[in-house]
Amino acid sequence: MLVARGIEKNYGDVSALVGADLDVAEGQIVSLLGRNGAGKTTLLSVIAGLIAPDAGSVQIGGMDAFAKPRSVASLVGIAPQATGVYPVLTVRQNLEFFGELAGLDRRARARRASEVAERLGLSDLLDRMGGKLSGGETRRLHTACALVHTPKLLMLDEPTVGADVATRAQLIEAVRELADEGAAIVYTTHYMPEVEALEAEIVIIDKGAVRATGTQAELIASHSLRGVRFQTDGFVPAPTMGFEPERVATDTYRVLGDIEMPDLLDHLGPDAGRLVSVEALRPDLETVFLAATGRRLDAEGGEV
Ligand code: ATP
Repeated sequence: MLVARGIEKNYGDVSALVGADLDVAEGQIVSLLGRNGAGKTTLLSVIAGLIAPDAGSVQIGGMDAFAKPRSVASLVGIAPQATGVYPVLTVRQNLEFFGELAGLDRRARARRASEVAERLGLSDLLDRMGGKLSGGETRRLHTACALVHTPKLLMLDEPTVGADVATRAQLIEAVRELADEGAAIVYTTHYMPEVEALEAEIVIIDKGAVRATGTQAELIASHSLRGVRFQTDGFVPAPTMGFEPERVATDTYRVLGDIEMPDLLDHLGPDAGRLVSVEALRPDLETVFLAATGRRLDAEGGEV
């Protein structure tokens, strides 16, 4: 459904995208994972035709998205990061308005407004003003507005930011149902548990390009790290037999392989008391991200 190739985008001196590729098939959920500033929003905006790239091509449903922007627009739904709900329209009016923008006739708008409200748990709130919803309800309405015209390619940019556990679960379930019905979905997040819950194809993006792609199991098999990572108060750990620390940042080292924390303490001997922190590296998505980008992804998307 989506084939994006070699997308480049510069904002002045900032290279937001340096040749990003993205493929999403019908019925597939792709989880776009990256730190703040990695280029996720820029990539979605280029695909949705909201900003023009400096280079690259985008095909949606087999059509050149730059040559036929009007034809592809009806295929695409996007829920940007910042929620865009009209506070003085009711939930139903918000949904119908987005349906109207997408070209649905009056009956189709009314039917779809009820359907997407049902899907996102908003049926009881249809007559409530948009400005009188809770944060989680606003998030759900924002996502619902992107669904009204039944897009074949749906792009959700961090749809669960600020949402409570129930809203997160509801959104994830809705996304999985939509994929089961054939939609191609791009879902950006910083939040690993969501990636796991979606059972999505994972695309790791960093510094404007894709650094790794695969299912969680594939990425763990090909990229994850095992060992220990530790920070010292400035002392440089001496290598000995079977213990060769690799410096990965200021005063931060790692030893990969079959080594556990007690082994580390044994190797360091009296210097162990000068450790600032120690962390086990496990074969999970966190270490996949670390291995693919050289940096860590925390829940907020910053560097740790
Ligand atoms: P986040 O997780 O914080 O949303 P992101 O992965 O979506 O980050 P982008 O918003 O795509 O990242 O930004 C990529 C880079 O481009 C960043 O360095 C950002 O500062 C820069 N950038 C984005 N939009 C603009 C703009 N309009 N003008 C200048 N620089 C921009």
